[in-house]
Amino acid sequence: MPEHRQALTPVPPWRRTDYCGALRAGDAGREVALWGWVATRRDHGSLIFIDLRDREGIIQLIFNPEHDAGAHAVAEAARAEYYLAVKGRVVRRSDGTVNAELPTGEVEVIVTAAEVLNPSQPPPFPLSGPDSAAEEVRLKYRYLDLRRPEMQRNLRQRHQALRGARAWLDANGFIEIETPILFRATPEGARDYLVPSRVNPGRFYALPQSPQLLKQILMVGGFDRYYQVARCFRDEDLRANRQPEFSQIDIEMTGPRPEDVHEMAEGMMAAIYQYAAGIELQRPFPRLRYEDAMERYGSDKPDLRFGLELTNLSAAFGGTQFKVFADALERGDAIYGLALPAANQLSRRELDDLAEDLKTRQSLGLAWVKISGDGWQGPIAKFLGADERARVVQAAGIAADGTLLMIAGPRGKARPAMGELRLKLGAKFALRNETALKFLWIVDFPLFDYSEEEKRLVSVNHPFTAPHPDDLGLLASAPLSARALAYDMVLNGQEMGGGSIRIHNAELQLRVFELLGIGRDEAIAKFGFLLDALGFGAPPHGGIAFGVDRIAMMVCGTDSLRDVMAFPKTQKAVDPMSGAPSEVDPRQLRELSIKVAL
Ligand code: ASP
Repeated sequence: MPEHRQALTPVPPWRRTDYCGALRAGDAGREVALWGWVATRRDHGSLIFIDLRDREGIIQLIFNPEHDAGAHAVAEAARAEYYLAVKGRVVRRSDGTVNAELPTGEVEVIVTAAEVLNPSQPPPFPLSGPDSAAEEVRLKYRYLDLRRPEMQRNLRQRHQALRGARAWLDANGFIEIETPILFRATPEGARDYLVPSRVNPGRFYALPQSPQLLKQILMVGGFDRYYQVARCFRDEDLRANRQPEFSQIDIEMTGPRPEDVHEMAEGMMAAIYQYAAGIELQRPFPRLRYEDAMERYGSDKPDLRFGLELTNLSAAFGGTQFKVFADALERGDAIYGLALPAANQLSRRELDDLAEDLKTRQSLGLAWVKISGDGWQGPIAKFLGADERARVVQAAGIAADGTLLMIAGPRGKARPAMGELRLKLGAKFALRNETALKFLWIVDFPLFDYSEEEKRLVSVNHPFTAPHPDDLGLLASAPLSARALAYDMVLNGQEMGGGSIRIHNAELQLRVFELLGIGRDEAIAKFGFLLDALGFGAPPHGGIAFGVDRIAMMVCGTDSLRDVMAFPKTQKAVDPMSGAPSEVDPRQLRELSIKVAL
């Protein structure tokens, strides 16, 4: 078999002159040398057609025994995913055989020499056409999956996105600096990945959840403007779109106001879209206060591709006879409404299903009325008087007929629940403008949230975020009302990045730690190096970080992070290709002074 001879030869028999997918009508008449994989093979007896694939696409090859019997024999033996080297002449296809679907479709290559550089096992799934294979299989044979045009396109677009970001940052004086992977825990709200230190038995490094503290220290160290495409590690239970390791474009600047960070980040995002998609973004992006975003969209990452805003109906229902609402208002809860226009009708059954879902998942009740020329219909309509109806119609902005959905409950629960319902209905009734890129900034986040679970204040962003200077007085009296100098960039309902102006004063940092339940001693033990650094003329500083994978996903128009990462992990944090994580040799564990107690 000729393939065996070549498979043992580590260099191709001839240099490549062109990529398969790059040949065009203008190349007709040229002698070319190509390498590539057999995408498809059609045997017409004497004539054999092979579509040969490389990273640029596919080209049709013709093997005619009259041109070269040896090459024809190679084509006869070749099967899907064999890697071939061929030589031949580019010719124009005859009019009837031009393939308009294919960028190379006006030409084909008449092969005069061919070698199998390596044969292939039959691939476990087809590499062309819609991806029908289960994801587990795609990940196990990732090298085959990566050959698919979609994956090739996605990873190249990701590369272009990063090029755009780097070009912009470079042009604006940012310096790329790498920070260590073996470091101490940086709290970003997830569990740490730990790495035992062999030479310091019983001690562990933590893989960075982000380079947060190090980038702050780089500002103390005088670099003024830093960025890094940084690998980050967070040991979380993997929800749909999370990966245990991911990349951030991590940025820090000396002395910015929030608007300066926004302007820089918008410029970078514009460069990303320019490089990766040839799309011009409109700037500046609108800004929305956190409180307004929650009030109007029930989310701190609102999808602005459609309207359907929430309305607060608490005042309109003041003094209501409907007991459920009256009790809720009495408790200090709020009532939120969502007015669906008449064109978007929900059946009784659908309303019941939505109510059931809200009840089981969030223990919240859903009330509704249908408003039409025939009056108000629905289980609660009879409790609502004429004046009240007039107030509600006005508050909810109901112009004519429609369905009004209502949720009563604590604001912290009712708003997100309504926000979720809004998204569900937006998708169901196809209200979203699918081609729109709705960027915005969410600003004025609260500094703290209260964790019922831990019975203490927790940071909404992270503990190094500066309180809003106007709210410093609230730290002592009403910390939950204090705002942070934090901001998120949101696109079409996805958080693309987030950051803040930082605390650059050690005393203030200690006070914030204290509010978070981290006493002075613990703070010094864990973050003494940061507190020390802040004590040596640390300049004011702030920054932001963007999820590269999320950006790539949006640029490529896919809805899975795994489609824009070369080697992602499954929901169980496993790599099906290599089998990581794996057991290790007991000798390695002994060296690390570690005993596994399963
Ligand atoms: N370190 C933050 C994060 O990973 C981003 C930042 O505050 O710059 O979310």
